[in-house]
Amino acid sequence: MSLLVVGSIAIDRIETPFGKSDNSIGGAATYIALSASYLTSKVNVVGVIGNDYPVDYLPLLQKHGINTEGVQIKKDEKSFFWHGKYHNDMNTRESLATELNVFMNFDPTIPDSYQDCSYLLLGNMAPQLQQKVIQRLKKRPKLVAMDTMNFWIDTALEDLLKTLKMVDVLSINDEEARQLSQEYSLVKAAKKIMSLGPKFLIIKKGEHGALLFHENQIFFAPALPLEDVFDPTGAGDTFAGGFIGYLANTNDNSFMNMKRAIIHGSAMASFCVEKFGPERLINLKQSDIKDRVQEFIDLVQFDISII
Ligand code: AMP
Repeated sequence: MSLLVVGSIAIDRIETPFGKSDNSIGGAATYIALSASYLTSKVNVVGVIGNDYPVDYLPLLQKHGINTEGVQIKKDEKSFFWHGKYHNDMNTRESLATELNVFMNFDPTIPDSYQDCSYLLLGNMAPQLQQKVIQRLKKRPKLVAMDTMNFWIDTALEDLLKTLKMVDVLSINDEEARQLSQEYSLVKAAKKIMSLGPKFLIIKKGEHGALLFHENQIFFAPALPLEDVFDPTGAGDTFAGGFIGYLANTNDNSFMNMKRAIIHGSAMASFCVEKFGPERLINLKQSDIKDRVQEFIDLVQFDISII
């Protein structure tokens, strides 16, 4: 099944306690598409870049089989730029700069060749833009998933609530879930958020894993305990890309299959944090992914008899 990914394509400056990286390719769509490309074959991207976007990076996405026909190039403008700095615990970060540039007046155009997509992942961006993408598809995809962030909860809540009514899956972190629902308990938060539209809710908890909610069912996936975490940038998007890529490949949206998708998303995210930017996502082998998924299985498997 083909997958459409819409989101930011960025030039990032990243600072972690382990070093700095300038001019790293980034953006939600970049991480999502790269991650999904290992799990499904038809990945299409809609986004926008400016004249400063390094010339060899679009071919790099194409080399992963990613269709970039829907990436607009604005020759007189600068690309979306983000500068993030991580604190010593690597769990929290500060956005030192967010320059929207080409993203400010972004008008997502969906090429005809993308119109038959069955899966849609709307990366973190203005909720109004996310709505526009859904409205511009001639046929509603089989599954629509979206990400968002506290910035949109603060500044565009009304639009965000409209978008939530149009999607099947929402992926957010625990802090955002609490902010959106005004509930501390994540179980209560999930119930409230699902009543706003999405039938499935993923709550990411960083190095503490992720929760999947659907009706009265809950699934928990751990994050792999890693020896070295160099840069968490893009981990959430990589997780979402692995999740939707697995679903697009298997074409099965049952709760049971979503659990498998969450494990694949978690495995992909565990690679992402091992190097700066999307570096580790560029040269993965299928056997690396299989081994990583097996590590997840081993991590949580135990024999028990209830006495
Ligand atoms: P994540 O670490 O998964 O939250 O994603 C980090 C990526 O999101 C970086 O590559 C940034 O370029 C991108 N990003 C940061 N802020 C925004 C924003 N406000 N809108 C869209 N993309 C963003």
